[in-house]
Amino acid sequence: METQTLINWLSDHFELATTAFFAIISAVAIYFRSRQTKNGKKTLAKSLAKNLGEPLTLHPEIDPVKCLGCGTCTAACPEGDILKLIDHKAVLVAPTKCVGHGECEKACPQSAITLVFGTKTRGMEIPRINSNYETNIQGLYITGELGGMGLIRNAIKQGVIATQHAFKQLKQSPLRSALSATSTIDLLIIGAGPAGLAASLKAKELGLNYLCIEQNSFGGTVFNFPRQKIVMTVPADLPLVGLMKFKANHVSKEELLEFWNGVRAKQALNIQEHTKFDSLQIHELGFQIGYTHTKNEVKAPQTIIARKVILAIGVRGSPRKLGLPNEDLAKVAYNLIDAEQYENKQIVVVGGGNAGVEAAIALAKDTLHNEVRLLVRGKAFDRCNETNQNLVQQLANAGRITICYESSVKEIFPETLTLDLTGEKKSIANDYLFVFAGAEMPQKFLATLGVAIDQKFGEALAA
Ligand SMILES: Cc1cc2nc3c(=O)[nH]c(=O)nc-3n(C[C@H](O)[C@H](O)[C@H](O)COP(=O)(O)OP(=O)(O)OC[C@H]3O[C@@H](n4cnc5c(N)ncnc54)[C@H](O)[C@@H]3O)c2cc1C
Repeated sequence: METQTLINWLSDHFELATTAFFAIISAVAIYFRSRQTKNGKKTLAKSLAKNLGEPLTLHPEIDPVKCLGCGTCTAACPEGDILKLIDHKAVLVAPTKCVGHGECEKACPQSAITLVFGTKTRGMEIPRINSNYETNIQGLYITGELGGMGLIRNAIKQGVIATQHAFKQLKQSPLRSALSATSTIDLLIIGAGPAGLAASLKAKELGLNYLCIEQNSFGGTVFNFPRQKIVMTVPADLPLVGLMKFKANHVSKEELLEFWNGVRAKQALNIQEHTKFDSLQIHELGFQIGYTHTKNEVKAPQTIIARKVILAIGVRGSPRKLGLPNEDLAKVAYNLIDAEQYENKQIVVVGGGNAGVEAAIALAKDTLHNEVRLLVRGKAFDRCNETNQNLVQQLANAGRITICYESSVKEIFPETLTLDLTGEKKSIANDYLFVFAGAEMPQKFLATLGVAIDQKFGEALAA
C-alpha cells in the first residue's frame, strides 16, 4: 500500500522527482570530484615541498585540452598514486615515482597522454636509435634499458624488433654460408638480460647464425635482484615460447629466472657467459668485436667478426660509485643478491631509490640481527615506490632500520666509515657498505663507438 502511495506521488510530481534525483547525483559527483582535487593537490604539494616535482625518466605528458578527466589513466597506473585528477584534469602529482610503464597512455580514450623523455629544464641523454632500434651506425642496434626505457617487457619487445630488422637486412645480402670468412657470424648479441634473451630466441627462430655473450650470468639485472624480490611484469611475447604470463603479473625473481633458464635449456640457446665485450670496430663484413673471458686466469683478448650487432648491455654494467678512496675494498658492493649471507653485521646502505630501500629491508630481516643504516641524500625518499616507503618506515618505527636523511659517506676504512649525518661528521663501526646510487649510462663508451647521443627535453619516443 505504501509503495502504491509512493508511485502515485511520483507520477503526480514527476518533474520534481526527476529534478531531485539529478540534483542528488550532481551533488555526489561534485563531492567526489572536489575530494579528488583536494587529494591530488595535497600529493602534488608534498612532492613539490620535497623537491620531487621533476620526473627522472620516461613519463607521461598530459594535454589538458584533450583530457576529459575520466580518470582511466589514474586507475591504470601500476605504481599507485602517481597520476591524480585535479579540477577534472589528470596531473602527474608524484613525478619522481614514475618508471614509464606507459599504461596511462594506453588507457586514455582521448589520446591526451604522450610518453616523453626528460623535461623542458632537465635533459636526458639517449642514444639515437630509429624505430627498429638501429643506431646511426648501420647494423649496430641498441635495445632494452640502454636505449633509455626500463622494464622487462620493453626490453623483450625491443630485442625481438631489432633481430627481425637485422634478419631482413641480412636477407638482402648473401647469408653467412655464402661468405668466404667462415668465422663470421650473422649476429652478435651482447648482454643476456631480457633484451638479449628475446633477441637470441628470435635469432634462433629465424635461423640466424648468432652468439650471445654475457660478462656475468644469464638473466641480466634480474639475476642481481635481491632474493625473493617480487618482479612486476605484464605479459610479454617470447619468440618460440609464446606469452610469458604470470599470476596477477607478479612473480618472484627465482621463479622468473627458473622460467628463463628452462627456455634457454629447451631451445639450446647459444649464450656464452663470463665473456666481456671490450671493443667494436667497423669491418668490411660488418663489425670486429673484441672480448675477454672473465673467468679465465689469463684474460687474453679475442676477436670475432659479426655482420650485425645488438647491444643489450643495460645500464647497470657501470654502477655509479661514490668516488672515495678505498671504494675497492671487498666490503663495498653495488648489488645485494642474498641478504641471508649477512648476519649480526653492521651495515650501511646508500640510496633512497627502490634498489637501496629493498636491500635495506632485506638486510633488516629480524632473524639476521643486522644493524642497518639507510643513508638518503635528500630530505625524503626519491625514486622509491609507495609500498617500499611504507615497508621501510614500518621497519624504522620498529627500530630495525635507522633512516638518515641528508646523509652521505665521507670516508671508507676497512672496519669503519665516516658519515656526514645532516652536516655532522660521525665515525661508525662498519662491516659492509652497499651503494645503490644509480648507474651511469655508458654514453662515453657509446660515443667511443661512434654512436650519436641526443639530449631529450620532454620529447616523445621515436619508436
Ligand atoms: C631494483 C630493481 C627492480 C626492478 N624491478 C622491476 C620490475 O619489477 N619489473 C620490471 O619490468 N622491471 C624492473 N626493473 C627494471 C628491469 O630489471 C630492467 O629494465 C631490465 O632488466 C632491462 O633489461 P636489459 O636486457 O635491457 O638489461 P639488463 O637486464 O640490465 O641486462 C644487461 C646485461 O648485459 C650485461 N653486460 C653489460 N655490459 C656487458 C659487456 N661489456 N659485455 C657483456 N655483457 C655485458 C650485464 O652483465 C647484464 O647481464 C628493476 C630494476 C631494478 C634495478
